[in-house]
Amino acid sequence: MDALTPAPEVRHFPVARCVPCGRDVLTHVVLDAAGREDRCCVHCDAALDPEEIRWVGVPALNDLGYAMEGENEGGCGREGCGQGRCGNR
Ligand SMILES: [Zn+2]
Repeated sequence: MDALTPAPEVRHFPVARCVPCGRDVLTHVVLDAAGREDRCCVHCDAALDPEEIRWVGVPALNDLGYAMEGENEGGCGREGCGQGRCGNR
């Protein structure tokens, strides 16, 4: 047991301020041409400053308008869809 390891059941999600969206958004990882990880807005794919990323738990996500309970594909029906599944179709 490693006391420095966060409890695995406590999940956190990367969020950051997205200027085009005008709000805090969930981010997703994309790989650039060099294979480096970039963080982008799940709504508009704007590149986000990695230093702006902060990791929040589910309650904070709910405060941002992401309903994570159940995780049943739940993103649709919100502005731009919160799950990152809809934007690229
Ligand atoms: Zn955005």
